This record gives sequence, structure tokens and C-alpha cells, in this order.
Amino acid sequence: MAVAQWSSGAGATDTGPRPRNEDSFLSSGPVHVVADGMGGHVGGAAASAAAIEAFRELASRDTVRPADVSAAMTAAHAGVLEVGRRAGAESGTTLTGAIAVEHEGAPWWMVVNVGDSRTFHLAGTHLHQITVDHSHVQQLVDAGEITAAEAEHHPDRHIITRALGDGLDQFDAWLVPVLPETRLVIASDGLTGAVSADLIGSVAGLADSDADAAERLVEAALRHGTGDNVTVVVAHASAVTTPDTAVADPWRRWPEDEDEDDDTVGADRRESVE
Ligand code: MN
Repeated sequence: MAVAQWSSGAGATDTGPRPRNEDSFLSSGPVHVVADGMGGHVGGAAASAAAIEAFRELASRDTVRPADVSAAMTAAHAGVLEVGRRAGAESGTTLTGAIAVEHEGAPWWMVVNVGDSRTFHLAGTHLHQITVDHSHVQQLVDAGEITAAEAEHHPDRHIITRALGDGLDQFDAWLVPVLPETRLVIASDGLTGAVSADLIGSVAGLADSDADAAERLVEAALRHGTGDNVTVVVAHASAVTTPDTAVADPWRRWPEDEDEDDDTVGADRRESVE
């Protein structure tokens, strides 16, 4: 049975103090995604738009499965590489978000990520980050060299270690249970670099609607002096994942038979393409 149209959402964006907006987003049907084109690269805006475009066909579908999302990520990566070829320069973008999928007959959020835009789970006003940044400071945190709090103000916090368009067709993904009274918040670093997680939770949790939440969060980033383009998508669901499979955090990784050593393999391969 199809779990048609059980998700909805809305997005907002602002150029902030930058000369142009290189972020892109789509919140339509089952698809809720944000992409942040690389600053300093030619065609950052074109790169983020190409990545988002790869998800547009899924937006009109009644039923999306995890394999469809994987195919869209591959298409997004190819689309960004094509932008780079046309521009004659390296081109890249982050991409993160949540797609409402059917898996083993039940509704799930499939959360995907490449780069340092973030997807959060919001219960009440409590914000919990689902994605793990592909960033230099996240590597320092993982190695125990700095704390998560220190990472927020580290001078190298903008250096990302993976992007769509870097030649490595890989992404992180989780299956997140769909629970009542919860929202997902998806944002570029123009929000998370300027507004604390506590404030994001309060603003989004107290908003009247997804659209209201997205607009208020963009306003909060501007008020707190963001130095970057700001893009926010807020989504929620009317379905509920079957309780016996709905184990919240730790989120189930996708694919589920993923080898724990995959990150190491990725790092090795990455060196060979640089
Ligand atoms: Mn940004």
C-alpha cells in the first residue's frame, strides 16, 4: 500500500550579506532538501541548483523507496560534475535533507548528507542533530582533539571534507522513524553558524507552521549577524512508523549492512582523486 503524501514542509532563504545566493532548496511532496554551493568555486549557485534538480522527479511520486533516493544522490553527484565541466572549473555543493520513503511496508524518513549542512530532529523545542558533518572540525572532534563546543568557533570550521562534485559518489544516510509531534529542521551553515541549537529549537518548536518556522529561523540568522546565505526547510509527517521498529536515536544507518570500515575506505579513495 502506498503511503502517499504523508509529509509536508516549507522552506525559506535569504542571501544575507553575500553578493549572491548560492544555496538552493526543495520542499515538495516527499522531498525536503537543502544544498549549499561552494563559496569560491565557479558556479556555486549552479552546483547547488543541479543537486536539487536531481530530486525534483521524486517530488511528484506517491511512493519513494530508499533505492530511489540513492539513485537521486548519484544523479545529483553527476549533475554537479557536469556543472563543473561546463564551467571549466571545480564545482561543488553540500546536500542534506529528508525524503519520506516506504521501507518494508512502513513510512520512514530517509535522511541523507554530504558536507556540513545539517538535518535535525525536533521534539517539542528539543533539537537533536541527525547528520554528522563532513568537516575538518568534526574530524578533530572525532579524534578527541577539540570539543564540540570548541568546533563551533574554530577558525577552520568552514573547511568541509566531502562535497557533491568531488568525484566520490558516496553519502551518509539514516532511516529515522516518523513520530507524532515532531518536525525536521534542515539548514545550511548560514543558520547553524549564527544561531545556537537551543534557540533554533525554541524558534522552530514554538512556530505555528512549517512555513512560519522556516521564515522565523532565517530572520533569526539575519538578526544574529550571519555572514552567509541562509536556507531553512522545516518538514513534518502525518504518518507514524510502526512502533516496534521505531527505535529513535541511534538512527538506523542506510544501507543497513554497511561495513563499519567504509569511512576508512572512503578516506583512502578520496586521497587518490585529489
Ligand atoms: Mn554556507
